[in-house]
Amino acid sequence: MSKHFLSELTGSFATPALENPTGVMMEAAYRDLGLDWRYINCEIQPDDLENAVLGAKAMNWRGFNCSIPHKVSVISHLDDLGESARIIGAVNTVVNRDGKLIGENTDGRGFVESVKSSLELTKKRVVLFGAGGAGGAARAVAVELALAGVAHITIVNRNQERGEELSKLVADNTSAGAEYHAWTKQYQIPAETDLVINVTSIGLFPNVDAELDIDTESIKSSMVVADGIFNPPETRLIQTAKTKGCTTVNGLGMLVQQGAIAFEYWTGKTPSIEVMKAALSDALDITEK
Ligand code: NDP
Repeated sequence: MSKHFLSELTGSFATPALENPTGVMMEAAYRDLGLDWRYINCEIQPDDLENAVLGAKAMNWRGFNCSIPHKVSVISHLDDLGESARIIGAVNTVVNRDGKLIGENTDGRGFVESVKSSLELTKKRVVLFGAGGAGGAARAVAVELALAGVAHITIVNRNQERGEELSKLVADNTSAGAEYHAWTKQYQIPAETDLVINVTSIGLFPNVDAELDIDTESIKSSMVVADGIFNPPETRLIQTAKTKGCTTVNGLGMLVQQGAIAFEYWTGKTPSIEVMKAALSDALDITEK
């Protein structure tokens, strides 16, 4: 039998790329399924993005992730967009479909998957902190929660323009209600809220002691509290919510699930979530509490 030495290629384009652990969990999942696939983590400056995309196309990469700061700017270098990426206006996963590069967004669906086992989302009321800048994570999470059937999303954001734009985007494109709430003073979470989510960068390493300006008395045990931040997984918000008796969902689940959806887009196969989680926890030295 002849031997083959040509791996299928995937990877990531971002800057900074140094601390991006995605490759570790992807390659663990490839190995687990016996796939001769590689994931190459690349440091790409904004001015080099177009050439990087053309290079990936020339080398017949099967797909790649885009992270900060390329999630929006990559769109002009792609052949087409999937439906949710079009609504969100940001791409975190590019898929090579018969030589055409198609932009998808798996961040929001990853979040929805990660929270589903803690809360049935249909008709629920959501408070979402953040409206997304260059990364667009809050836009992705809001749109996918709305498509998953939540009743209403209150978007709490410091920048008014971004907050209003996101609430309009949700209201215009989905059947969920949405409103913007200006974050000019300490926020009181309405008691009827089912799900609270932080999709700002407040609390992200290295500023791990930064806290959202929320009246912690308004966090009730009936609420599910989630954080998009995975480094550290136990953010101040998650810690506070635990002391209030809430069910909590940290950002590791979103990270693994968005990767698993990208994996499926590229390979057509379902990866083991457990294998991906274990590889990630190992790489980040995390023991989940
Ligand atoms: P962006 O930088 O694009 O968005 C930042 C958001 O944070 C904006 O809404 C911004 O508000 C808000 N913000 C930042 N600092 C403050 C502050 N001091 N006070 C109030 N609001 C603030 O980031 P992304 O959309 O890429 O990511 C957001 C978060 O989601 C990050 O923490 C990231 O780690 C996480 N994430 C997690 C993923 C996962 O798989 N777990 C995937 C992708 C992202 P304003 O508009 O007012 O400037």
